Amino acid sequence: MNLSEYQKRVEDTWISNENDFIRIVCGLSGELGEICEKLKKYFRKDDCAEKEKKTSWFAVGLILKGEIGDLMYYIAKLCNEFGLDLEEILQENINKLAQRKEDGTISAKDINRKVQEIIDKWNKNL
Ligand SMILES: [Mg+2]
Repeated sequence: MNLSEYQKRVEDTWISNENDFIRIVCGLSGELGEICEKLKKYFRKDDCAEKEKKTSWFAVGLILKGEIGDLMYYIAKLCNEFGLDLEEILQENINKLAQRKEDGTISAKDINRKVQEIIDKWNKNL
């Protein structure tokens, strides 16, 4: 199935009512929240200490797989609402990011610093 077919399947499976747009926005937020929640539990120190073995990173990926699919569903639905082609959006986005990398606008050092800042903040709040 390509992305265009996927967008059509989203319409086939969507049950429409007068609150479609609110449902899409809340769905996006909710599914992203589910991903964050699962990652939070993975990184939570206390949770890891209580369990004999920590869930592997690979297992977390398998858990997230379903949530990523749920999130994609709402992203595709949002695109449909605005008549946007998901494949075109992704192509334009990857072209932009590839150009930034080629231009040196973003570097691995910057990314590592930002990721470390997030991890530090995360650990501070646990
Ligand atoms: Mg979900």
